Amino acid sequence: MNPNDLFKLVLKEKLLNKIDYVMALFTIPYMEDNKYDSGILKIENKIVTFVTDSGSYKLDYYRFPLLDYLDNTLLNKDEWKSLSEDIETSLGIAITNYLIIEKPFKGKIPFIDGKITSSIEDIIAERLVSDNYIPKDEADDKIKIRVKELIEYVDNCEYLKTWNRYFVQAASERTMLPPEGITEKKKQIVKDMIKEFGENAFKDQVNVVKLEEKLKEIDKEWLKDDPTLGIVTSGKVLNNSRKELFLTMGGIPAFDDEGELSFVLNSLLEGWPSDPDTLTAMFNSLRAGSLSRALDTQYGGLFAKIILRAIGNYTVKLNVDCGTKLGWSIKVDDTNFKSIKFRHIIDADKTILIDSEEMAKGYIGKSILVRSPETCALEGENYCQYCVSKLLSENPDGIKNDVTEVTSIVMYESMKKMHNTTKSITRLNKKEIFS
Ligand SMILES: [Zn+2]
Repeated sequence: MNPNDLFKLVLKEKLLNKIDYVMALFTIPYMEDNKYDSGILKIENKIVTFVTDSGSYKLDYYRFPLLDYLDNTLLNKDEWKSLSEDIETSLGIAITNYLIIEKPFKGKIPFIDGKITSSIEDIIAERLVSDNYIPKDEADDKIKIRVKELIEYVDNCEYLKTWNRYFVQAASERTMLPPEGITEKKKQIVKDMIKEFGENAFKDQVNVVKLEEKLKEIDKEWLKDDPTLGIVTSGKVLNNSRKELFLTMGGIPAFDDEGELSFVLNSLLEGWPSDPDTLTAMFNSLRAGSLSRALDTQYGGLFAKIILRAIGNYTVKLNVDCGTKLGWSIKVDDTNFKSIKFRHIIDADKTILIDSEEMAKGYIGKSILVRSPETCALEGENYCQYCVSKLLSENPDGIKNDVTEVTSIVMYESMKKMHNTTKSITRLNKKEIFS
């Protein structure tokens, strides 16, 4: 039995739902005297036997772990309800799909050959009905997702999370190492930049950013084929952690409001500088990560409270139309049409409710006014039904909930400041700014 046959057997006997089988398949067994016996896996004389309820299977290979999530496998459309054609994909993708798409939804949601993102939950939310929903016809039955299917999906997502004991994605060889020859390459870039911009090149923040960007390019090239790139190695890991570890500490903000950056060329790999100014900057960066972060988080919480107090009494007045002729103007196109769904728009002096995505699509290419709380003409602490989204008018006391979303953005931003900060250069387009 080769790895592919083994995987087929695993699917057939639904072994992925049993964690002791997952362990047997994806971890390296600890052998004593070249022997091992866990009941599921028996190893002796370099021969591996895999035991399931249906019998014992001798494997014709000797490699651990027995299955690798990067291995390729061929999936047959006759064995997968979520597939409309045979595909070749990685074991990792096959397993994730099996647990969170194939098993719970049985073909209602198609196989995703790649990263499964939270957008799948938008699909579920739109099609969710109760378990005793009576379908209109067969087609409707195949589209609608029942609560029990959602529960199986959530259970399997949670179950998949427990696998992180066996799969440490972040620990690939390349993520643990600096880009090859980075110190030499950095020296050369710094030399070239000083030649081009003069001795004081790095007193200019633009040059600091340019240097950081050049180094990050080298790092990206190094990580190019790494399976963790874009999944766990992304965002703050690339922009902050790896940059400071292996490339350069770069521009470190001071604690005053000026926003001046102190430049520290060293990376943590090269050690702490002895020069008092740069050493101070390094200390500041540590302090920013602890004390200052706590203060900023506090600011996020305070801001949420202030806004909630200000908005606490606002309600939506049902069956009242303030009669405003104002709103925000928007040219509907295929990137923004969803934003007018469930809103009232003013089209040729008439207020119309956009009740579905289809209806919103119909306005692509048109310039319209969307009624908004911002331009509601009612006085006092309320908005009329027509100036808010239909979803909000169904829940007239729910304004608070919507507003907390704004405060959570502020909260997120102030926390993020300490996690993922990148300075970048952007080109100013005069026409766009002043038009
Ligand atoms: Zn209004």
